Amino acid sequence: DVQVQQPLAVLGRDVEVPLVNGEKVTYAALDYAASAPALQRVWDDVAAYAPYYGSVHRGAGYLSQLSTDLFEQSRAAVADFLDLREDDQVVFTRATTDSLNLLAAALPSGTRVFAFETEHHASLLPWPGRGLEVAYLRAPRSVSEAVAALDAALSTAGEGPKLVCVTGASNVTGEIWPVAELAAVAHGRGARIVLDAAQLAPHHRVSVRELDVDWVAFSGHKLYAPFGAGVLAGRADWLDAAEPYLAGGGASRTVARQIDGSVAVEWHQGPARHEAGSPNVIGAYAIASACRALTEAGFDALQAREQQLIERLRAGLAEVPEVRVLTLFGEDHPRVGVLSFVVQGWNSSHFAAALSAEYGIGVRDGLFCAHPLVRTLLGGEEAAPSECGAPEPSLPGERSLNAIRVSFGAGTPDEHVDRFLAAV
Ligand code: PMP
Repeated sequence: DVQVQQPLAVLGRDVEVPLVNGEKVTYAALDYAASAPALQRVWDDVAAYAPYYGSVHRGAGYLSQLSTDLFEQSRAAVADFLDLREDDQVVFTRATTDSLNLLAAALPSGTRVFAFETEHHASLLPWPGRGLEVAYLRAPRSVSEAVAALDAALSTAGEGPKLVCVTGASNVTGEIWPVAELAAVAHGRGARIVLDAAQLAPHHRVSVRELDVDWVAFSGHKLYAPFGAGVLAGRADWLDAAEPYLAGGGASRTVARQIDGSVAVEWHQGPARHEAGSPNVIGAYAIASACRALTEAGFDALQAREQQLIERLRAGLAEVPEVRVLTLFGEDHPRVGVLSFVVQGWNSSHFAAALSAEYGIGVRDGLFCAHPLVRTLLGGEEAAPSECGAPEPSLPGERSLNAIRVSFGAGTPDEHVDRFLAAV
């Protein structure tokens, strides 16, 4: 039973980092979109539980039973957080990438998958190569274009199972996607839809019922919990009908040796089917703690604060004529606390390195694991290939082949944004 005064206080706010000039400054973490700092509250909850954890499921001892209860309560907390339907289920995974690969592996054979090419690689790449038919839709330049493009693609897709995969908020531009509209189109055309909420869930309430999506995926480490756990939540039927994502103990109900020497397996129904092996109980518990903290603090308050920071950032960047903010739907489109830009005459990797070395500011540079999107935004299919986030081998003064991303959330002080703007 941990009481924390500020429900959304984050860790790591007092880290001192050395600058090239020998001074030290407090680190300004402006890379929440990659991984957000953990909430103090999450850390306290985990610390309070850590001395008592035991293996979950079938342990006869008291601590095993306690852990089993807490693990299942964590599932329930996530279900509340996402406002799931009664029959939906919560599967604990390693992160969003894992969740979407799980879903891809569970799709009925022959499912036709539709995704915009603007997706993060985690929602772009799990589908091909599994006997699924995949259609990538070109980057839309407005909400109405996105809705119309999906409708047109689905209208000729024929019968059979169909899945639409859409992001809630872009990890590059921060722009919020019209999820409810796309879900209505998908369902109107007999398709199901999965929401990649990796960037949306830390900033906005995600109600599965209100958005009317079939599945949601998100990562603990972007939701103010530590690394190693994520969630796939939603409809049970396809997940229960699929082969287990991992084969092993925990997923299997009974295993019997056959006369011919093989084994016959009966797999569990429900989340356990896809959670073989000893689950990451601490990770699940941490996610549940973050879900409760965010709900208690209220997304209205979080968003109001974030909007202040976004306005401050945008106004500041607007004063620098060399800065071009990257946007798909227009600069005034609603966004979360994520913004990418390029600076004329600067290589983005050098720019980001200078922000770190000279100002103690941590941002990200590269193509942000969304190569097709960033190339579209930079205005050239010809942009050089790059590893996720790897520096481009060009010199200052050359045209940008990658971008700089600044992102923030709970606990970000004005001072971090101001220092960043002064540096820019
Ligand atoms: N989707 C989006 C929109 C993301 O931003 C990310 C992480 N950058 C992912 C999916 C993948 O998340 P993870 O690395 O935690 O699996």
